[in-house]
Amino acid sequence: MASILHPASPSQSRPGRFGVYGGRYVPETLVYALDELEREYEAAKADAAFHAELNALLHDYAGRPTPLYLSKRLTEQLGGAKIYLKREDLLHTGAHKINNALGQGLLARRMGKKRVIAETGAGQHGVATATVCALLGLDCVIYMGDVDMERQALNVQRMRLLGAEVRGVSSGSKTLKDAISEAMRDWVTNVRTTYYLLGSALGAHPYPTMVRDFQRVIGRELKEQILAKEGRLPAAIIACVGGGSNSIGAFYEFIPDRAVRLIGVEAGGRGTALGEHAARFQGGAPGVLQGTYSYVLQDEDGQIALTHSVSAGLDYASIGPEHAMLHDSGRAEYVSCDDATALDAVVKLARTEGILPALESAHAVAEALRIAPALIPHDILVVNLSGRGDKDMGILARELKL
Ligand SMILES: *Cc1c(COP(=O)(O)O)cnc(C)c1O
Repeated sequence: MASILHPASPSQSRPGRFGVYGGRYVPETLVYALDELEREYEAAKADAAFHAELNALLHDYAGRPTPLYLSKRLTEQLGGAKIYLKREDLLHTGAHKINNALGQGLLARRMGKKRVIAETGAGQHGVATATVCALLGLDCVIYMGDVDMERQALNVQRMRLLGAEVRGVSSGSKTLKDAISEAMRDWVTNVRTTYYLLGSALGAHPYPTMVRDFQRVIGRELKEQILAKEGRLPAAIIACVGGGSNSIGAFYEFIPDRAVRLIGVEAGGRGTALGEHAARFQGGAPGVLQGTYSYVLQDEDGQIALTHSVSAGLDYASIGPEHAMLHDSGRAEYVSCDDATALDAVVKLARTEGILPALESAHAVAEALRIAPALIPHDILVVNLSGRGDKDMGILARELKL
C-alpha cells in the first residue's frame, strides 16, 4: 500500500529530500544499513583513489566517454531541429546501467561485503551487476519477475553465464516492483554480509542521490561535447523515464541552464486507464512505495496499481523522487509515448541511422520525432539513447512480424 503520509515541508529540506519527496520509509532493521551505506558513500565520494579507480573502469572497461552523434539523416528527413544522440547504447553490456553498477560495485568491495543482490526489470541492470560482480570477484544474486524473465530471456541467460544466480519472483505483477520487494526482503535478512545494488534513482535515501551521482557523467560529457561541436547548449534534452536514472543523469548538469528544456518520456503503454500504462505523472499521485515518497500509480485506497509497458525497463508504478520535484517545480516536463509509437520509433531509427535502440530508449526517440519538425534548424535536440535493442529481439520479432 502507498501510505499517504505528510512529509516535511520543502523549507525543512534535509539530505535525501527533494522538496517534499524522497526520504527513507523502511523497516527499522534497514535504518542501520542505510546509515552505514550513506557514511561509506560520503567517505568514498571524498576519496580521490575511489574516483581514480572508478574513472579508469568507466574509461577502459565500460567504454566512456560515449559519442555524441549527429543524426544527419533523421535531421534531414524531419526538416526541423538538429538531432544528436548520446550513445549510452555503445557502453559495455549495452546500456547506461554499467555506470552505476561499477560505482556501487566498488563501494560494496570497499565496505567488505562479499555478496551482492540486485533487482532487474529489463535485465540490463541485472547483467550490469552480474558483470561487475564477475569483475570484482563478488557473489551475485539477481531478483527478476517471472513476466520479465520470459520477455527478456536473453538477459537471463547472460546473467547465468556471468556466474550470477537469477531468482524468479512470482508475486504481484511479477515485474520490477515485485523484484525490488524480494531484494529488500533478502537484504533485511542478510544485511551484515550483503550489499544491495539498486539499479535506478529510486528507493530510500541515499540511493536516489547516489545513483544520480553515478549517472551524472552522462550529462557532464554531453555538455562538454555539445559545446565543443556547436558552441551552444541544446534547446532540449530528451530521455525515457523508468525509475529515472538515465534521465536524471542526462538532465542534472543542465538544471541551472533554464533555457534548456528537460523532457522525460514515460511509458504510455496501451491505454490511459489505470493498469494499462506506467505514466506516473498522468494518473499517479504522491505516495510511498519501496522506501521513498514520490508519484505512485495507485487506486483510491492507495493500493499500488498494475502497470503495463512493452518495455520492461519502464514498467514500474513509481518514479525517482527527484523527478517528482522537477515535475512539480516545472523545471522538467514529462510526456508519455504509447507502445505502438515506441515500436515505430525503433523501426525508424533502425532504418534511417542503422541504430537499433532499446524499446525503453525508443520512447525518447519517438518524442524527438514528434517535436523536431516544428522546431527551427538552429534548435538542437539531444536524445539520450540509454541502451541498445538486441535484448528486445524476441518482442520485436513478434510485434513487427520480422
Ligand atoms: C533500465 C533501463 C531504462 C530505465 O531505467 P531508468 O532508471 O529510468 O534509466 C531505460 N533504458 C534502458 C536501456 C534500460 O536498461
